[in-house]
Amino acid sequence: MSDDEAFLTSLLASLDDEVNTVLNNSTVNVVDKGGDFSIADIPSSSSDTWIKLHNVVAVVCDLKGSTHLGTGKYDKSTARIYKSGVEGAVRILNEFDANFIDIQGDGGFGLFWGDRAYERAMCAGVTIRTFSGDFVDRLEKRWPDGLPETGFKVGIHADRTLVKRIGTRRVIAEQEAVWAGRPVNYAAKCAQTADRHQVIITQRVWDKLKGNDYIAFSCDCGEGPTASLWTDISVDRLPEHDRDAVVLNVPWCQKCGPSFCDAIMAGESKRDIPQSVRSAINKMKMQDALKAKRAREEARKTALRGVRR
Ligand SMILES: [Zn+2]
Repeated sequence: MSDDEAFLTSLLASLDDEVNTVLNNSTVNVVDKGGDFSIADIPSSSSDTWIKLHNVVAVVCDLKGSTHLGTGKYDKSTARIYKSGVEGAVRILNEFDANFIDIQGDGGFGLFWGDRAYERAMCAGVTIRTFSGDFVDRLEKRWPDGLPETGFKVGIHADRTLVKRIGTRRVIAEQEAVWAGRPVNYAAKCAQTADRHQVIITQRVWDKLKGNDYIAFSCDCGEGPTASLWTDISVDRLPEHDRDAVVLNVPWCQKCGPSFCDAIMAGESKRDIPQSVRSAINKMKMQDALKAKRAREEARKTALRGVRR
């Protein structure tokens, strides 16, 4: 056997050993944490502890058409578009106090938990949507001869997650926090489904925020308030029962946006909305999806009770 083969054979044998140990003989502790958990406390690779968080809201943003921005002749413009776009989105996630931020190529994600996690995530998502419009206006002015269609696509989902650092043991620089579970995965699928300048949110996020009049209904400008701010959409990349979602096409209103954002962040939720407008929300397909979901959960609980008897 050559040295190269010996190297590969021993690497694979050692990995198999390691997998066997982790699967069969390692202790795994899962520790439940509330909203006051800090990322500095994410267990390292050498630890056998995973942290479980019950309500983590993920905001994923993707730059549309980034693969078509290309390189070669356009190296410098592509580099500038990436830098200004991605840095802008990350700054927004930061300003709304995302608890964890990760940049991934042409986009990234922010995770929110603890106080007003849903509200902070939603305001960050709508602000990225708003920034997306301004950003593209500026790109079009700078390169009037045409660029591939671009702009941010945003997805939001909330769920429980397990987290720890994974990577080379005892070398912190080679370890990364891994968020196991649905929050980032589902939010990413929403972002992939969205077109540029759209925010798609899942059932769980809508269920939590639909009672907030500053989020559910449009502002008083024009014909407002209306119940047509959010419309039904299907995210076909998600499992069947989780596909119904809602999509937002518009940015913050130039006039009302700042005060609405302040109100949401301050925990306010009630506006003067005519009853006819309020009841229009119930005609959304999403309402049926939420009802069906509740029925399924109820049925599952009943089934569990049956098993215990
Ligand atoms: Zn307005």
